[in-house]
Amino acid sequence: MAIPTLLPCFRFVKKQPLTTDISGEMILLGTGTSVGVPAMGCHCEVCTSGDPKNARTRCSAILGLPEGNLLIDTSPDLRTQLLREKLGIVHAVAYTHEHSDHVMGFDDLRLFQFYLGHSVPVYLTPVVQMRLEKAFDYAFAEGPQTHVGAAPSVEMHEIKPGQPFDVLGASVLPIPLKHGPRFDVLGFRVGKVAYCTDVSHIPAASMEMLSGLDTLVLDALRPDPHVTHFNIEQALEIVQQLQPRQTWFTHCSCSMNYRAVNPTLPVGVEVGYDGLRIDLT
Ligand SMILES: [Zn+2]
Ligand SMILES: [Zn+2]
Ligand SMILES: [Zn+2]
Repeated sequence: MAIPTLLPCFRFVKKQPLTTDISGEMILLGTGTSVGVPAMGCHCEVCTSGDPKNARTRCSAILGLPEGNLLIDTSPDLRTQLLREKLGIVHAVAYTHEHSDHVMGFDDLRLFQFYLGHSVPVYLTPVVQMRLEKAFDYAFAEGPQTHVGAAPSVEMHEIKPGQPFDVLGASVLPIPLKHGPRFDVLGFRVGKVAYCTDVSHIPAASMEMLSGLDTLVLDALRPDPHVTHFNIEQALEIVQQLQPRQTWFTHCSCSMNYRAVNPTLPVGVEVGYDGLRIDLT
């Protein structure tokens, strides 16, 4: 008897995923800093609080656009995040930058080629692409793989800071941001909603791209200053200048006790949390 080369459940044919519809919404999949909260081995009051709003997976978001789900970054917690939100499919991915806490879930994209019936479109800068190609070299190797689905199948699309691109029926504007003095990242704006994580400085031209927002998701690592992230005070200065209707802080460390910090913030500014749903319309 011939041995089948592929298990029936992993044929590269289009399959219907079990998923929920998030059209018109953005979900904050993860709102934690690079090590997550709780941090391994940390005995601080936040890490041991048991408060679900102090449980922060690595930073990521997903947008329910007219033609599908656009994932922003592939965090190391991607699988947990999508299962938690009952999301069975990602239709495209856009990357903010190449740090490990934003790319290391890349391998979990493997499943989606089966549901899409084609490679997963990925929108990124050449620098992020180089990092992915090094970190996940098996996915970009020449020649046949051991079996279908052994690696993510992706289709790369270069994006340029300040130049909008069309994806899944929406126009997305990549906004240049500084993540420390020597590191560039992208924020993303869709309509009147913007997502700006891993940022310590917003250049003047980018501030203009962020005017007139309904909702801003903004990096606010902790109360104390940090060289590559806004602290609370700096994030509030940005809010003061941009005047979005609502701001949600993200990429928060375990120095951010939700119940202690949230009541101290001005009206219209709150600490974000995993699973938060934001209206995109
Ligand atoms: Zn990060
Ligand atoms: Zn802690
Ligand atoms: Zn980063």
